[in-house]
Amino acid sequence: MAGLEAAAEHWRRELRDAFTDTRALLDYLAITPEQISAGLLAPRDQAQQGPQGFPLLVPRRFASLMQRGDPHDPLLRQVLPSAAEAQPKEGFVTDPVGDVAARRATGLLQKYARRALLIATGACAVHCRYCFRRHFAYRDGSAQRDRFAGALAALATTPEINEVILSGGDPLMLDDRVLAELINALEQQPGLKRLRLHTRIPSILPSRITRALCDRLAASRLDLIAVVHINHPAEIDMDARRALAALREVPAMLLNQSVLLRGVNDDGDTLAALSEALFDAGVLPYYLHLLDPVSGAAHFDVPAPEARALMSALRGRLPGYLVPRLVREDPGAAAKTVVL
Ligand SMILES: *Cc1c(COP(=O)(O)O)cnc(C)c1O
Ligand code: SF4
Repeated sequence: MAGLEAAAEHWRRELRDAFTDTRALLDYLAITPEQISAGLLAPRDQAQQGPQGFPLLVPRRFASLMQRGDPHDPLLRQVLPSAAEAQPKEGFVTDPVGDVAARRATGLLQKYARRALLIATGACAVHCRYCFRRHFAYRDGSAQRDRFAGALAALATTPEINEVILSGGDPLMLDDRVLAELINALEQQPGLKRLRLHTRIPSILPSRITRALCDRLAASRLDLIAVVHINHPAEIDMDARRALAALREVPAMLLNQSVLLRGVNDDGDTLAALSEALFDAGVLPYYLHLLDPVSGAAHFDVPAPEARALMSALRGRLPGYLVPRLVREDPGAAAKTVVL
């Protein structure tokens, strides 16, 4: 028991020790603020973004995967609050994917047939600057607010739903006890066959993938799918591979979704290397998302024609099963829109 408790403590402690200060992160990476060409977003402006603010949050382990001295590092770019975020751009809005309209109950979204998405918590282990949920009112919108009662009641009256997606935020930010309570309740829903986790944690905070967590998942009657979120091959190190292997042994089907991001993974070499690295870690590419037009993220945008050309080139150099589907989310559509 002591070992398991220590493991639980370990990821919580890692989170407490995460970088929350831009200067401290840059100092650690031996980069000066002047080297950041777009400039930095002031802490005051980070605190005012969205209903809860969206300050820098980077676990030290994730920072350790960045190249010291490189202001253009693709991992750093995903998490560094840039002054470009303060530039309004037409068409970039606070609810780009129609989440407000898709709300079925507190923290439960249903947009598509037979599957519903549960916002298990608003918390994440990292703050990704391109994220479309940055403006979401999590404190009111997370299913945790009423201990999942509203979401579970809505599921009980919708027997055609056979798959629940735990999302967020990041569902693995919940403590094991809360997560187990939630899974217990979901297992009582007779129509439910599959449980899907949408999580960025295996590559961000792999210490969260504990033996206790895997044991609870393995005990479930539900078939398990983990859709992880990795944008760049440098995010997959030995620790991430170990965490992914533990999930695969549960067993869980492992898929990856990435976002196509300017300056991060917008070239064929990086995307091909990402697919290869995912395969080596036991994960198949699922979706490559075009950026949701969320306000503050326009500097990450890769226009669709350029994205299509990238995908064609990728198809020429990888087996079909390593080519993700390029998709876009259109508010009101019956599924993600396949672009290519
Ligand atoms: C993206 C999304 C899903 C999952 O879609 P799949 O195509 O099944 O991966 C489900 N529900 C909501 C609300 C979503 O946004
Ligand atoms: S971990 Fe996921 S939900 Fe959280 S900020 Fe990053 S992309 Fe958004």
